[in-house]
Amino acid sequence: MNQSAPGWAENSAFGSFTPPIRRLMGPGPSDVHPRVLAAMGRPTIGHLDPAFVGMMDELKALLRYAFQTDNDVTFPVSGPGSVGMEACFVNLVEPGDTVIVCRNGVFGGRMLENVRRCGGTAVVVDDDWGEPVSPARLDSALHEHPEATLVAFVQAETSTGALSEPGPLVALAHRHGCLAIVDAVTALGGCPVETDEWDIDAIYAGSQKCLSCPPGLSPVSFNARAVQRVRERATPCQSWFMDLDLQLGYWSAGARTYHHTAPVNALYGLHEALLMLREEGLEHAWDRHRGNHLALVAGLNAMGLSLFVDESHCLPQLNMVVIPDGIDDAPTRARLLDEFGIEIGGGLGALAGKVWRVGLMGYASRPENVLALLWALESVLSAQGRTVPQGAAEKAAREVFDRSPGRRGDEGAAR
Ligand SMILES: *Cc1c(COP(=O)(O)O)cnc(C)c1O
Repeated sequence: MNQSAPGWAENSAFGSFTPPIRRLMGPGPSDVHPRVLAAMGRPTIGHLDPAFVGMMDELKALLRYAFQTDNDVTFPVSGPGSVGMEACFVNLVEPGDTVIVCRNGVFGGRMLENVRRCGGTAVVVDDDWGEPVSPARLDSALHEHPEATLVAFVQAETSTGALSEPGPLVALAHRHGCLAIVDAVTALGGCPVETDEWDIDAIYAGSQKCLSCPPGLSPVSFNARAVQRVRERATPCQSWFMDLDLQLGYWSAGARTYHHTAPVNALYGLHEALLMLREEGLEHAWDRHRGNHLALVAGLNAMGLSLFVDESHCLPQLNMVVIPDGIDDAPTRARLLDEFGIEIGGGLGALAGKVWRVGLMGYASRPENVLALLWALESVLSAQGRTVPQGAAEKAAREVFDRSPGRRGDEGAAR
């Protein structure tokens, strides 16, 4: 071992890393519930240990609940949301396939890149950033491209804060003989995701947005049509790691052969997070996200701030706040982090410097966080010379909390 490697000797003061305490109110990762962290600290066991296999079965059942599906093929892919995205595309796109990608933000752009790298031809249907995906535009693209085999879109665009309605888009895809891939990374747990009712063929999510869990796992679900499409491929899936058949060798009941070493402790965490979602109840979780969003918006409005996205299709879990004139983006976010321990996100692409992205996702969606951010913003904006009516934001937010039945905003997250 080279003890004299540059940087080693002079850093003999290295110690354990102790992260600061933060409120994670950006586009992800979001606050992780202490119960989830505690679960992840339990002893590591073998990923083929019979005790672990029992936990895997529960985890799959809990995921079916979260996705509202009976799909057999429902399991977490080892890797962040981007890996779930890629797993859907590499399995369902063959070289030469035409895929319609609806793009209304950054993540639709990534879907497009996936199609290209799979050797597919992408037809892009663009919608303005901040707007939902338009069924009418998708319909004309489907008419113009009868050769298309697949439609892909993002339900909850984290880069813009816009919510699209999956049901009608999936129905259009099916009417034209296409399967539909839906990105539910930010949607799952934060707003309704009805995989079976909407007849979604392949869907992927992420552990770190509205599931109160750290990053690193991507739940996916494929229905029978999608599984059949994968089985009928003329060419093998170009990714060995993400090949659905091989993955199912580990995740299918009965099979359980070694594929890769599953991230054992991360899976404990996801199991606990999903258990908490089951205890709270999906509908209560959706109500909680909505209630805290409404309180935040009331507070921001009282401070003279507005949202970038129209309330009719605004995501409750990701709020795009227009940065007011005379306020600088980066220094404001730096002060929120340094002085108040609050992380919010900046805008992406064309929206950089123009908006803040305030996440109220999973365990981060609780009244305490709403109030903390409003107080902090009031202080930081006032310090930059903006006239902010003192206490007005808090009062407006509290009025919303007091109106909501049973203070839904608190349920579940308080556990
Ligand atoms: C965060 C996110 C992803 C990517 O997830 P990672 O865990 O960062 O890889 C994909 N799609 C959407 C809509 C997201 O918000």
